[in-house]
Amino acid sequence: MPAKELLKNAIFGVLAAIYPKLGPRASILMYHSVGENRAFFAVSPREFERQLQYLSQRNLTVLKLSELVDRLQKKQDVSNAVCITFDDGYVDNYEIVFPLLKKYNLPMSLFLTTGLVGKTFTNSEKITLPMLSEVQIREMHESGLVEFLPHGEHHKKLHALSDTEIESEVGDSMKKIQAITGSLPSLFAYPSGFYIERTIQVLQQLGIRAAVTVHPGLVSSLEKPFELPRNAVDSKTSFVQFRAKVSDAIEVFQKIRGV
Ligand SMILES: [Zn+2]
Repeated sequence: MPAKELLKNAIFGVLAAIYPKLGPRASILMYHSVGENRAFFAVSPREFERQLQYLSQRNLTVLKLSELVDRLQKKQDVSNAVCITFDDGYVDNYEIVFPLLKKYNLPMSLFLTTGLVGKTFTNSEKITLPMLSEVQIREMHESGLVEFLPHGEHHKKLHALSDTEIESEVGDSMKKIQAITGSLPSLFAYPSGFYIERTIQVLQQLGIRAAVTVHPGLVSSLEKPFELPRNAVDSKTSFVQFRAKVSDAIEVFQKIRGV
């Protein structure tokens, strides 16, 4: 492990020991893939199961993102709440993640790049991964454990698009989710985390009520509903870092870094 990672682990370890609990705020986790592929965003199945075990054994409440936003809108308590979110819609979400969610009876929210359904996707590391099919999406939705939410039709970075282009990129994605699952979604995840003030206005006009970013942190109110923080879990996330990301330690770490 490189020295920088070792230092990060040591800091997270100390912080997670001092701040072991989540307290009054909720943590939204961001995953992409669980599998043995070499992508930087892929968590190994063994590590993912260890993380799910931790979530079910601790005094944490795993909610779908829509349930968390409902609670925040009603100004209800979100103490110790954690959301599991996945982006893009890789087939391993069905083959590996879904059986483990059923095993531990934990829900998740999946932001789907709708134009890739049933296709393959080659990421920036030139790794090609198969994407979920409509049949798989329907089975996951019908289980009641997985909610599907839009992540754009073509995963376009929205800050560079015109209002009309954003309308079709996001609107088409919302409509396709509704066509497959029967429910119209009202939450969104910015593709690659890109957005500007104007993006938020167009999302509001489309009927989106909240959106998640890729910035780390915890959430306790809907003060900024279109800038909800998420804590990334990927191949580089050690178990001690994971524990810190579902506790107050992540906020303290951000303050230390001056973010
Ligand atoms: Zn994405």
